[in-house]
Amino acid sequence: MRVILIIGVKRQLQAAPLIHTQVFQTKKNSYIVANTYLLVALEQTVKIKKLEYSTMMKNESRKGFTVALPELLAPAGSYEKLVTAVHYGANAVYLGAKNFSLRAKAGNFDDEMMRQGVRFAHEHGVKVYVTVNIIAHNIDLLGLDSYLATLENIDVDGIIVSDPGILSRARKIVPTMPVHLSTQANVTNHRSASFWLDQGVGRLNLARELSLLEIREIRRQVRGELEIFVHGALCISYSGRCMLSNYMTGRDANQGSCAHPCRFSYALLEEKRPGEYYPVEEDERGTYIFNSKDLCLMDMLPQLVAAGIDSLKIEGRMKSIFYVGGVVRIYRAALDYLAQLPQEAWADPSKIQMPEIFMQEIQKTGTRGTTENFINERPGSAEMIYTSSRAEQSYEPVAVIREPGAAPLVEIRNQVMRGEHIEYMQQGIELIPLKIISMEDEEGSSITKANPGNLVIMQTAPPLSDGREHGILRRQKR
Ligand code: SF4
Repeated sequence: MRVILIIGVKRQLQAAPLIHTQVFQTKKNSYIVANTYLLVALEQTVKIKKLEYSTMMKNESRKGFTVALPELLAPAGSYEKLVTAVHYGANAVYLGAKNFSLRAKAGNFDDEMMRQGVRFAHEHGVKVYVTVNIIAHNIDLLGLDSYLATLENIDVDGIIVSDPGILSRARKIVPTMPVHLSTQANVTNHRSASFWLDQGVGRLNLARELSLLEIREIRRQVRGELEIFVHGALCISYSGRCMLSNYMTGRDANQGSCAHPCRFSYALLEEKRPGEYYPVEEDERGTYIFNSKDLCLMDMLPQLVAAGIDSLKIEGRMKSIFYVGGVVRIYRAALDYLAQLPQEAWADPSKIQMPEIFMQEIQKTGTRGTTENFINERPGSAEMIYTSSRAEQSYEPVAVIREPGAAPLVEIRNQVMRGEHIEYMQQGIELIPLKIISMEDEEGSSITKANPGNLVIMQTAPPLSDGREHGILRRQKR
């Protein structure tokens, strides 16, 4: 593959001024890259090499013009979630071990499981980043050096940190390991971004409290990789720096043990009147005073892609494989949709409308309602949800394909009956509607009902010939 770097070719840069990278295919295996980064990054040979690589990962469009798609970064709270995220199109996953990570209650990985996960991901061209993002106390530093060395030995692609002490130790113990800054470090301006980049951080996950204008300005001012959250639960506190759980339950959010008291339903109790609860109402709608809707920047994807964000991150290491698979599938399809738009569409990314199907599918994966948070304006009470802290989920998983085939072997996730109508979530936004014709248990006996955990040969109409290992079958909730 031959790559020519064009520096400051005015005509090409003017063609789509808001897109930070363009690839023009001149002939098979030969590309021209026009990249506004490169104008300022020329003196950094390493950076140019990295940009060439990331640019070549991008999809090609029908007209030879390619928009620079950001990485799609998915949560992997367990090995199965990692496999699911890879199957549905993540470019990278993030995960944690038992210690040093901010999701102590997620399934998490021991060394061997992490090694397997990294091997599986790398076989599929997917990167693995490991969270080492606790706010560390002195005692937490015990074992850190050997843990970092183990991560390097396992061949992970980077670590995610928020504590300067852990960062400085990582630079010393594993100096070639890429380091990403966690959103917990609250980067809200370009000087702060420059500070962290000067410390050896290669990528910044910006604070979730930024507007698109602020993100664009940081992009304009700094050269390192930028990552933002595009989907998932939000903290009511500043990018997760929160003591609520600590005070109310003794579980420290900054050590990975949040009990989510922001989602509790609150009432007032007078001590001499036990059992009499007085409502606490922020307004007439209710009592979930800290309960934010979930972030969803689906409709902002065109502008985020055009702004030159390097990685779009999905929250949810504690969520189910149904959530991980469903959300990754939709964002993958949305990014691929953007990749095939003609060059003219990018003249004004704010005018690109995402097809409604993407938001419709998001609603089926389980949300507390959606908000764009700070991206266009400061959120107000409309961004809170007062009626329930539970995520509404109109669809649920039925089974996961273990051995594909016209009559696949599936692992049941929710009780299912012969004759039910279900759907196969294939890669891409399309679904395959199916009816269950018959089921056989492991002994080969015909059954009318299968329960969670059962392994079942499932015959459907039409036959599920396009089903793939790790693919998910779902149905509308009863
Ligand atoms: S209590 Fe809520 S706001 Fe605070 S860290 Fe936990 S999830 Fe975030």
